[in-house]
Amino acid sequence: MLKVILFDLGDTLIQERVDDVITLDAMTLHAHPYARAVLKQLSSRYRIGVVTDTETSFEPSVRAALCNLGLAPFISAVVTSADLGVTKPNRAMFLEVLRRLGAKPSEAIMVGNDPERDIQGARQLGIISVLYRPSKYYRPAAESDADYVIDGLEQVIEIADRLGGCGEVTED
Ligand SMILES: [Mg+2]
Repeated sequence: MLKVILFDLGDTLIQERVDDVITLDAMTLHAHPYARAVLKQLSSRYRIGVVTDTETSFEPSVRAALCNLGLAPFISAVVTSADLGVTKPNRAMFLEVLRRLGAKPSEAIMVGNDPERDIQGARQLGIISVLYRPSKYYRPAAESDADYVIDGLEQVIEIADRLGGCGEVTED
């Protein structure tokens, strides 16, 4: 039974400006299209966690950024690599966010844009993986073995509802 949905942050829920040396605090951040609407809808049925690799930004900075973008009300847990001392795909990142959300790997899906950090990281624990490829110009560094590939965040809702067992109607 699906209980939680985990999201990467950079270039998944938010668009990062990559032309400067940046920290999350100083970045010019924008939420991806539909990010707020998708999180709002999902959070009524599933708990939402963010699991993000940050260089210098700890949880309070990330939460402040999420707050400024209007995303914070829908997110129950935020795990950063700066706080944990390891980065994705290290399994500790995923286990920690699941621990905080009170869920097992089999009760989660992970949505992210990085085939190694997000997708392989999730798959090693048996978490269902969703690769987000937001633009036709974006090419993953490697072919991905993600369970699903999407090009719009709104597609997470359909996947979640299908896995959650609420979207199927059987006729006999
Ligand atoms: Mg990312």
